[in-house]
Amino acid sequence: MKPEPNPMILRNCRYLITQNAKRDIFEHMDIEIQDNTIKRIGKNIATKSSDNSGVIDCSERIVMPGLVNTHTHLGMHSLRGICDDAELHDWLSIVTKAEDSLSEDDVHDNTVDGLVEALRFGTTTIYDSFKYPRARARAFEKMGARGLISASVYNKKDLKAAEQFISTIRSPLLRPAIAAHSIYKTEESVLRGVIAVSEDKKILRRIHVGETRKERFDIQQQTEKLPIEYLESIGFLDPKALLVHCIWITKGEIGLIGHAGAKVSHNPISNMKLASGGVMPLVEMLHENVIVGLGTDSVASNNNLDLFEEIKLTPLLHKQHRWDPKVITPQQALDMATVNGAACLGLPDVGSIEAGKKADIVTLDIGKHMKPINNLLSNIVYCANGNDVNDVIIDGKVVMRNKELQKS
Ligand SMILES: [Zn+2]
Repeated sequence: MKPEPNPMILRNCRYLITQNAKRDIFEHMDIEIQDNTIKRIGKNIATKSSDNSGVIDCSERIVMPGLVNTHTHLGMHSLRGICDDAELHDWLSIVTKAEDSLSEDDVHDNTVDGLVEALRFGTTTIYDSFKYPRARARAFEKMGARGLISASVYNKKDLKAAEQFISTIRSPLLRPAIAAHSIYKTEESVLRGVIAVSEDKKILRRIHVGETRKERFDIQQQTEKLPIEYLESIGFLDPKALLVHCIWITKGEIGLIGHAGAKVSHNPISNMKLASGGVMPLVEMLHENVIVGLGTDSVASNNNLDLFEEIKLTPLLHKQHRWDPKVITPQQALDMATVNGAACLGLPDVGSIEAGKKADIVTLDIGKHMKPINNLLSNIVYCANGNDVNDVIIDGKVVMRNKELQKS
């Protein structure tokens, strides 16, 4: 019989941000992890070992759920800084040529490098899309990261390859998804194919949409519909749909997204860097109960994978835009990077620290930088950054300990 693994205990968490339904924050609490699952949360949980193995002292740590990045392209990691001063359509013409020169080995190595950066900064779940999905899946397995992986679909050949890739996913930490690039780069018959595969395999379907004013006007001219209206007309909107960017959309389109139960990935830094011009109507989306997660986009338009920057930039952007300092609370910003991000990806088992959930947990060093802690959520949202992350646990496995990535 297989011996029962020794439980891991995160001992005496100075602060524990659970992100549970009540958004409880506890002090001086233990977390017991058995296999890949959070078994219980309580005070003074007894350890079975006599030598304290499996016990991590968290008395000087903020313990919180691992972050969820709902949109990036890790295979582009070597393209950081390739084009800093162009709007999307000019940027794409430069970046696409550089992407074409990347081999499968390049994409694998870039994905490993991207994961090293993201994990160090406390992100434990990533939705990643680019070419060579099998190479990227291997990189995720090597690094022990949780993720959704899809191939970007532009044409019929890509669609076939994306469909074939789905059955190759084996790791329990990975799930397949399917990604149409956009309405302007993916013809309608292929978009319909993406919908059919998503329905057939019951997997998430993603698209970039509403990113620029030009895109909106071009689609309106070609189809006599606004972008989201067009997606609705072909059956793309659905709870399995993840719509990325959604800046240039109207209130009526937000109503369609809310009615369909589709999800949205908000990428404020990438949008600002590519001078998208408008501001994503986040407040209106939240009024329509649209579930919104945060994404970094790739390092070619960010230029890093520190999701704590999105957590801070999101309320700042919307406060400034709306002339209203109360418009997005710290709690809402943190929700987008944890539980709501997980909901965007169809992963109800991650994004919060609760008994029965997967053990995806990060600890932050309180140290000097985070003191004084007058308001914990304020510190997390407006003060913390990825370099404050001390330990990273994914699926019950310690991936980073005392800022050192562990050998897999
Ligand atoms: Zn993207």
